[in-house]
Amino acid sequence: MSEDRYDVIVIGTGAGGGTLAHALAPSGARILLLERGDFLPRERDNWNSEAVFVANKYKAQETWYDKHGKAFHPGIHYCVGGNTKFYGAVLLRMREGDFGEVRHEDGTSPRWPLSYADFAPWYRQAEVLYHVHGQRGADPTEPPDPSPYPYPPVSHEPRVQELADDLGRAGLRPFPLPLGVRLNESDIPHSSCIRCDTCDGFPCLVSAKSDAHVTCVRPALAHPNVTLMTNATVERLDTTASGREVSRVVVSQGGTRRQFAADIVVVSCGAINSAALLLRSASEQHSNGLGNRSDTVGRFYMCHNNSALLAISRKPNPTRFQKTLGVNDFYWGDGAWDYPLGHIQMLGKTDAAMFKGETHGLLPRRALDELARHSLDFWLTGEDLPRPDNRITLAGEGLQISYTPTNQEAHQRLTDKLRGLLRAIGCEPSILVPREAYFAKRLPVAATGHQNGTVRFGNDPATSALDVNCRSHEVDNLYVVDGSFFASSSAVNPTLTIIANALRVAAHLRERLGSAVSAAAQQMPSA
Ligand SMILES: Cc1cc2nc3c(=O)[nH]c(=O)nc-3n(C[C@H](O)[C@H](O)[C@H](O)COP(=O)(O)OP(=O)(O)OC[C@H]3O[C@@H](n4cnc5c(N)ncnc54)[C@H](O)[C@@H]3O)c2cc1C
Ligand code: SF4
Repeated sequence: MSEDRYDVIVIGTGAGGGTLAHALAPSGARILLLERGDFLPRERDNWNSEAVFVANKYKAQETWYDKHGKAFHPGIHYCVGGNTKFYGAVLLRMREGDFGEVRHEDGTSPRWPLSYADFAPWYRQAEVLYHVHGQRGADPTEPPDPSPYPYPPVSHEPRVQELADDLGRAGLRPFPLPLGVRLNESDIPHSSCIRCDTCDGFPCLVSAKSDAHVTCVRPALAHPNVTLMTNATVERLDTTASGREVSRVVVSQGGTRRQFAADIVVVSCGAINSAALLLRSASEQHSNGLGNRSDTVGRFYMCHNNSALLAISRKPNPTRFQKTLGVNDFYWGDGAWDYPLGHIQMLGKTDAAMFKGETHGLLPRRALDELARHSLDFWLTGEDLPRPDNRITLAGEGLQISYTPTNQEAHQRLTDKLRGLLRAIGCEPSILVPREAYFAKRLPVAATGHQNGTVRFGNDPATSALDVNCRSHEVDNLYVVDGSFFASSSAVNPTLTIIANALRVAAHLRERLGSAVSAAAQQMPSA
């Protein structure tokens, strides 16, 4: 085997790529992980809201364009672990009904080619791998499962417990959010997680968040058969003359161009960059982009209807770790309107520095401090529909995202539901202030955090780019394993589904790689 040939090349180390590499590592297969970013520096600024939210120190220095050609900076991170280094670690399963057709005000979101039952065992494994803390049965819309969460739920701090009690009195069924943090509340002196106030949107300085780097890439690298190259941007994928196999992965690293080859090539760059890489890999055999005879690559982009909203608590809210409560009572609707509304969860607690960035210095420091002392922060998510014209295209060196939101009335109604509860939850009535900094949401199109759907899977090669194993319908050794494969977005955070799917595809790949690598596996340490 030559130096630059591997059994498997995985491009990207986020939720999809990192998890897949971890699952394949014990097989003994020679695996090369290519990551365009570096290890995120571990430094005090990891937990400095001014650095993270105002100076955007860790965001990618990318300029992309909206459908009008207007430049924007996406809320995206390039580093080992990808966007999971910054995520809020809320790890929810999609609802059983989300795998079927769902009727919305603006149309119907399509049925997935696989059912919830197909995903259930992988969700279970994903929850174990990512140390999910939760309370099975508390969320009224969660699919039933006989096994408990691997760890007990993260407790509410007093102000959030009051909120839970108030919501209960108002007839709702709030539940503890399932969270991937290594917190041991029964033995705090030995707990990795210290339950700090800089989690949601921040990297974890003490490696206690279940991100893809800590959970997957780091243990995978303990296997001698796994190699990681950082600062290695994959520029394009070339194929054999038949166009049926990827024969070359072309990488730019520090100004030097390198080439690698593998029996299996897995693209896991995140939904936007995976689509862009396939489009950039157009060739004589694949004139519309690699594996894109269906003309679906880059299309059907979804990112959720999201709002970060601040309510003003009448009494001070000294909560440190606020993201512990969710509400799904309106997920499928409110009984008064025919369509689903979506999901509500708490957001990480805001502080004065974040407000300073968002109010552009217009409010004096004392007012900002007072606002921060009384804020109770919410995150609302609604399903958006996969529309062919919501798409990623190439724009010179950059990208264009053409996106027109859907299901806006549902999102407005969900916001109104929360507004209607403000008095009952001890907040100033009617006041809900939009928060901009979280998800870089000054322009809705810049809020790329929940990106999915751009290389959809399906049974029909005419309407999907990937088969049910997330393999290209047209290129035998090409897989796409990240948020790209989603057929619809549901209204819950996407990452547990990305992780579960990566575990599912890894099992398929282990079978495909078969005996060629199984002998070597006997020699390997376990992750
Ligand atoms: C602030 C924030 C909070 C969030 N909170 C939550 C949450 O609480 N719960 C939840 O479920 N989700 C959350 N998300 C979303 C979550 O982070 C993503 O769903 C998840 O990271 C997507 O996984 P992925 O594998 O598709 O892509 P990513 O994790 O983005 O990984 C893609 C990787 O590919 C690399 N890459 C890209 N292009 C190339 C290339 N050409 N060559 C080499 N490498 C490349 C990138 O550097 C990156 O490491 C949050 C996101 C953000 C930004
Ligand atoms: S709350 Fe825990 S997991 Fe989150 S950043 Fe703080 S220490 Fe890390």
